[in-house]
Amino acid sequence: MNPTKTAVVVGAGFGGLALAIRLQASGVQTTLLEKRDKPGGRAYVYEDQGFTFDAGPTVITDPSAIEELFTVAGRNMADYVEMLPVSPFYRLCWEDGHQFDYANDQEALDRQIHARNPADVQGYQRFLAYSKAVFEEGYLKLGAVPFLSFRDMIAAGPQLARLQAWRSVYSMVSRFIEDEHLRQAFSFHSLLVGGNPFATSSIYTLIHALERKWGVWFPRGGTGALVKGLVKLFEDLGGRIELNANVAQIETKDARATGVRLEDGRVFAADTVASNADVVHTYAKLLGQHPRGAAEGGALQKKRFSNSLFVLYFGLDHHHSQLQHHTVCFGPRYRGLIDEIFGGKTLSEDFSLYLHAPCVTDPSLAPPGCGSHYVLAPVPHLGNADIDWDVEGPRYRDRIFQYLEERYMPGLRSQLVTSRIFTPFDFRDQLNAHVGSAFSLEPILTQSAWFRPHNRDAELSNLYLVGAGTHPGAGVPGVIGSAKATAGLMLEGVAT
Ligand SMILES: Cc1cc2nc3c(=O)[nH]c(=O)nc-3n(C[C@H](O)[C@H](O)[C@H](O)COP(=O)(O)OP(=O)(O)OC[C@H]3O[C@@H](n4cnc5c(N)ncnc54)[C@H](O)[C@@H]3O)c2cc1C
Repeated sequence: MNPTKTAVVVGAGFGGLALAIRLQASGVQTTLLEKRDKPGGRAYVYEDQGFTFDAGPTVITDPSAIEELFTVAGRNMADYVEMLPVSPFYRLCWEDGHQFDYANDQEALDRQIHARNPADVQGYQRFLAYSKAVFEEGYLKLGAVPFLSFRDMIAAGPQLARLQAWRSVYSMVSRFIEDEHLRQAFSFHSLLVGGNPFATSSIYTLIHALERKWGVWFPRGGTGALVKGLVKLFEDLGGRIELNANVAQIETKDARATGVRLEDGRVFAADTVASNADVVHTYAKLLGQHPRGAAEGGALQKKRFSNSLFVLYFGLDHHHSQLQHHTVCFGPRYRGLIDEIFGGKTLSEDFSLYLHAPCVTDPSLAPPGCGSHYVLAPVPHLGNADIDWDVEGPRYRDRIFQYLEERYMPGLRSQLVTSRIFTPFDFRDQLNAHVGSAFSLEPILTQSAWFRPHNRDAELSNLYLVGAGTHPGAGVPGVIGSAKATAGLMLEGVAT
C-alpha cells in the first residue's frame, strides 16, 4: 500500500496558496503555515470603519493562470470568485497635464499615440509585435518551467539572443518609440514586478502583450476576495491552513528536510517541504542551522534586491468620480528618479506614484458615497538607504497627501476618515523580506531563470521554493507560474 504523502508549505502568499492547491489536488495531504493572522502575504487585507483596503496586488493579469488552479482541482472558478474587467487598464498622467488612457482598444491607442507623435503609431505596432514574440517565448514556453540545470538555460539561449534579452526594457522600447512620454508609458510596467526599466531585461516587455491578450481584471470584493476563494478551494479539497503559525526552523536529517518547527514549539513533520517565505529568510534563518542554509543564505545576501515601497492606505467620505481605477502619476523626472530608487542612499525629493481607486470598479469596498484608496511610491530598499521610516513615514505621508490633493483629489485631507502606512520596515518586519524589498531579487538577466534561486534546492532533495524569489519571479502571474513549476517537481519527488 502507498500511504498518503504529506507536504508542508511555509507562507500563504499567492505562490504558497497556488502550490498548496496543486499539491492537495494531486492527493498530497498539504498543510499551509502562515505567520500572520490572515492569508495572502503581500495581498493582505485591512478593514477599517467600513473601508476595505487591499494591501498589495490590484492589477490582476492572466486570469487563465488563476482559473487553471480551479480546473486542476476539478472546480469552477466562478463558484469561488467573480472577476471584473477593468478599462482603461491604467490612466497615465504627467505633471505637464498630458494624460494617456492605456486601454485594450487599438483605435483609442492609435489616436492618443498619434496626438503625441504620428511616427509612433507605426513604432507602437512594431513594439507590440516584439512584445508578443517575447511573451510567446518568455511566458508561454518558459514561465512555468523550472530552470534546474545550466543546460536548460543554454537551450533557451538562442531565443533569448534573438529577442535581444540583454537590452533593457527602456532601451528596447526606445528602438520603436520616439516620444518620451510614450517611452515611459510602455516601459514602466517592469516596475510593477520590481524591475528597473533601465536595467531589467527586455524580456519584461512581455507584460505589455500579456495585458493586451488577457486584459486587466479585478476580483469583486477586491484582491482579498480572490485570496479567500483560493483558501476556500484549498480547504474544500481537504487542505489544512494554520494562521499565526510562525515557522522558526526547517528541520533536516542528512540531506533531507523532515518538516518544520514553529516558534511556539509545534512540529509539523512532512515528506516534502516548500517555502514561500523570502528566499534569504528561508536559507539564512529557517535553514540557518544547516551548512547549506548558512552558505546559500550568505550567497543570496550578496545579490541585488528590488526596491521597496511606501504604501499609504486611506478612506475618504467622498467618491472621486474623476479618477480611473488605476492611475500612474509620473513625477517631474523619470530616469533620474528611477536611478535613485534603485541605487540611491536617500529618499528623493520628488516621487512617481501609483494610485488605486477600486470603488470605480466595485463600490462595495467603501461605505456608500465614500472611497477606499491606496497610493504607493517606489523607494530604495533598506540595504541601500538607511532611512528611519518611523520618522520619515509620517512626513512622507503628509507630502504625498498634499501632492494628491493639489493635482488629483481636491479636498482630500478634509475628506479623510482613516489612513495607515506600510513602510520598508514593515516589509522587513512583517513579511520577513530581506532589506525590506517589496519584490525579492531584482529581475535582471543575471538573476533570472537558471540564475535565480532554483525551485528545488540543489542539496536538500525534498526542499523547494515557491514565490517571487524563485523562477520566474514576482507579480501574481509570476508566482502562480512558480507554483506550477515547483508543484511539478514536488509531485515527481513524492512519486519516487
Ligand atoms: C504594494 C504592492 C503592490 C503590488 N501590485 C501588484 C499588482 O498590481 N499586480 C501584480 O501582479 N503584482 C503586484 N505586486 C507583486 C505581488 O504582490 C507579489 O510579487 C506577490 O504577491 C508575491 O507573492 P509570493 O507568493 O512570493 O509571497 P508573499 O505574498 O510575499 O507571501 C509570503 C508569505 O510568507 C509568510 N512568511 C514569511 N516568513 C514566514 C515564516 N517564517 N513562517 C510562516 N510564514 C512566513 C509571509 O507572512 C507571507 O504571507 C505588488 C506588490 C506589492 C508589495
